[in-house]
Amino acid sequence: MKLFAIFGDPVSHSRSPIMHNCVFKNLNYKACYTRVHLKDGSKLKETFFNLGLSGANVTIPHKEAAYEACDEVRGFAKTVGVVNTLINENGKLIGYNTDADGFMYAIQEFGKVNDVLILGAGGTAKALASRFMQDDIKVSVLNRSQGRLSYFKEIGCKTSNWENYSTKKYDLVVNTTSAGLKDEELPAPKEIIEDILVNTSFVADAIYGKLTPFLHLAQEKNITFKDGADMLLGQGVLANELFSNKELKIEDIKTYMKKSFEL
Ligand code: NDP
Repeated sequence: MKLFAIFGDPVSHSRSPIMHNCVFKNLNYKACYTRVHLKDGSKLKETFFNLGLSGANVTIPHKEAAYEACDEVRGFAKTVGVVNTLINENGKLIGYNTDADGFMYAIQEFGKVNDVLILGAGGTAKALASRFMQDDIKVSVLNRSQGRLSYFKEIGCKTSNWENYSTKKYDLVVNTTSAGLKDEELPAPKEIIEDILVNTSFVADAIYGKLTPFLHLAQEKNITFKDGADMLLGQGVLANELFSNKELKIEDIKTYMKKSFEL
């Protein structure tokens, strides 16, 4: 029996155990997935091996600590310096990032996008901006404060804060701020958000499980929108494929992980 876990602080809200266990159970894969409340990110590696884990996911605030803890980092995680999936490969800790590709999966239904505005400049924004740029999509970033914008400027994004934002047309606007997660705030002052919404074709939010004030406003304006549930599904499917070392078919993983959303 293989054991998997999600590390985070907080972690009790995470739906990952339900998602992965639903796949393991229905596909008769001998594995179990649990939660680990980890406060100190520097203890990630020793806790992983002490628990005898075969793999893990990592959520807030340890994704950058997870990158540091790895013996080897593969694929897109190397570009962005953020790891959300860990695999025990013969006693070595291997890191991947499935968040960004999970998001690309989630926005497939919007068709080809060429120009994207990201609201927020945290870890999720970093991963999405780098991933969009890999596909030659133009990326602008709008954040409340200036400090975190330098990374985005360096990789070639157009950046602004609330004070110097000016109107432009976008194909897609993505909220990666935590505004609306545990409060009823918009990701920027209402006049800016209204201006943004009348100038975009599609809207997405990384937050899932609720209609955020941002999505509510998009709905009122009849703009096609989606919450973060498909992003969650996308990253989970890709992580499960890594956990099962491709022994499980991706279509089967997707079927049962989707089913877990009804639980
Ligand atoms: P970070 O803490 O790294 O970044 C948060 C960002 O939000 C910062 O840019 C911060 O701005 C901004 N912010 C916070 N509060 C407000 C506010 N009230 N108004 C405007 N801006 C605000 O978070 P993450 O990138 O790790 O996560 C962001 C969100 O994405 C979370 O809600 C998380 O749950 C969600 N998420 C969803 C996933 C999914 O699978 N669906 C996967 C990953 C994340 P400043 O720099 O000024 O502080």
